[in-house]
Amino acid sequence: MITGTPAPAVPADLPSSVLHYIGGQHVGSVDGATFDVADPVSNTPYATVAAGSAADVDRAVRAALAAFTGGPWPGMRPRERARILNRIADAIEASDERIAQFESFDSGLPITQARGQAHRAAENFRFFADVVVALHESAFGVGTSQLNYVLRRPVGVAGLVTPWNTPFMLESWKLAPALAAGCTVVLKPAEWTPLSASLLPELMTEAGVPDGVFNIVHGIGEQAGDALVRHPQVPVISFTGESATGKTIMGNAAPHLKALSMELGGKSPVVVFADADLERTLDAAVFGVFSLNGERCTAGSRILVEDDLYDEFVARLAERARHVRVGPPSDPATQLGALVHPEHYRRVLDYVEVGCAEGARLVAGGTRPEHLREGNYLAATVFADVRASMRIFQEEIFGPVVAVSRFRDEAEAVALANDSSYGLAAYVWTSDLERGHRVAHAVEAGMVWLNSHNVRDLRTPFGGIKASGLGHEGGEHSIDFYTTSRVVHVALSDARPTRFGVPPQADPAL
Ligand code: NAD
Repeated sequence: MITGTPAPAVPADLPSSVLHYIGGQHVGSVDGATFDVADPVSNTPYATVAAGSAADVDRAVRAALAAFTGGPWPGMRPRERARILNRIADAIEASDERIAQFESFDSGLPITQARGQAHRAAENFRFFADVVVALHESAFGVGTSQLNYVLRRPVGVAGLVTPWNTPFMLESWKLAPALAAGCTVVLKPAEWTPLSASLLPELMTEAGVPDGVFNIVHGIGEQAGDALVRHPQVPVISFTGESATGKTIMGNAAPHLKALSMELGGKSPVVVFADADLERTLDAAVFGVFSLNGERCTAGSRILVEDDLYDEFVARLAERARHVRVGPPSDPATQLGALVHPEHYRRVLDYVEVGCAEGARLVAGGTRPEHLREGNYLAATVFADVRASMRIFQEEIFGPVVAVSRFRDEAEAVALANDSSYGLAAYVWTSDLERGHRVAHAVEAGMVWLNSHNVRDLRTPFGGIKASGLGHEGGEHSIDFYTTSRVVHVALSDARPTRFGVPPQADPAL
């Protein structure tokens, strides 16, 4: 490490190896395979992680299936499961600092933001505890002749495949509804960030989750993840990650006709009209793309600004970007930490080069800050005068890089916003509310924030359209995904169908 560059803050009880968790046991891979994992500040390996293969996934699925078919979990009353979920939330809150330190060390997220994500994870468990207790099933009276009622049943073993951005929170986002619904689960965390997931077994056990209900198989996506996707006894896969991976998974799951929930990439537009409240818009735009290191699926990474405001907006945005504090993830003053992995860092830097080569105007950042000579650091980066044909307008960069473009009128704003293969989130800023609603209805996105930064009530449907995903999670949508509905039709009278097969002499109709 070059002198003067802060070293990573190593958590006190950092493990030197991370194992799978199957049937209540910490176990290595059947074939003994491991891979190394490094922190993004020193890029030095700190632990070996069990590398799962099809044999490990099969072991975990068998444990989960045994817990599903023979264990108490799926048949428990919702209130009993909810109590356990609330205890998981309590345990997360009690360990928030440790979780945040692990997460920040492993992923490069600024510590203050990692803490916020730990609290959000606890909230996910509490929320789905509430949802499942309040859930009702339907009954349909058909006059006096029939009653139809619907039973909701957990679907079985749920396969959960998660990405490296805000890993702990996104794992909780799948675990909480799947467990609340009564499923047993096999989680495959992202290989670049396995550390915070290694705390889950302890938290689950402390809360009273029975052995086999919750299982983890670590490993490389194309091996462990792929084996989970193809396992015939895993009927549902909830996946969050890149759109390209999503397509591969859909293909591999197709022969098994699995239900899939796909939360994929984004290139979300922020549409700023000249009459917007400039200060609030700037606050939201800067936070929206540079928080969580810009490694955020709903980042507002394309800012579209109306002509009259354009020059002022670009100048103010660049000024704010230059003051975003880039620093060690462990420093509470840091706003933008280290990007997760040297490979990803390289990819983001390549996009900076692409933007310059395409003729976009670099008005802030674009390089490593001078005071951070090692580690995956990039200053908050702003490109202005970006045209829709440019790759930096079209492709997801997933780092602290924002593209700014100008528009003349509402029609052009909507056309630019929709000139994307993605459709996850959109943000609209205007003081003309009629126009605000019109644009919110016209942009192709699963979620729109109007004069609001990205705050999300857990009851609302979360998900994208186009290349950003399939299906929605959140609230009852998540429970729908992890359950099947069975309708039972009951006759309440002796009504009969038209009689077939009656001998002619006995048939009064002839
Ligand atoms: P990724 O697609 O590379 O990996 C995601 C997970 O899939 C990892 O666990 C990986 O090991 C696994 N995987 C990879 N190949 C696989 C295969 N063939 N079969 C099964 N599993 C496989 O994504 P990433 O780089 O970890 O995450 C960043 C991406 O996630 C970005 O595109 C981002 O927008 C997206 N994301 C979307 C949301 C959302 O809710 N829409 C949220 C967060 C992140």
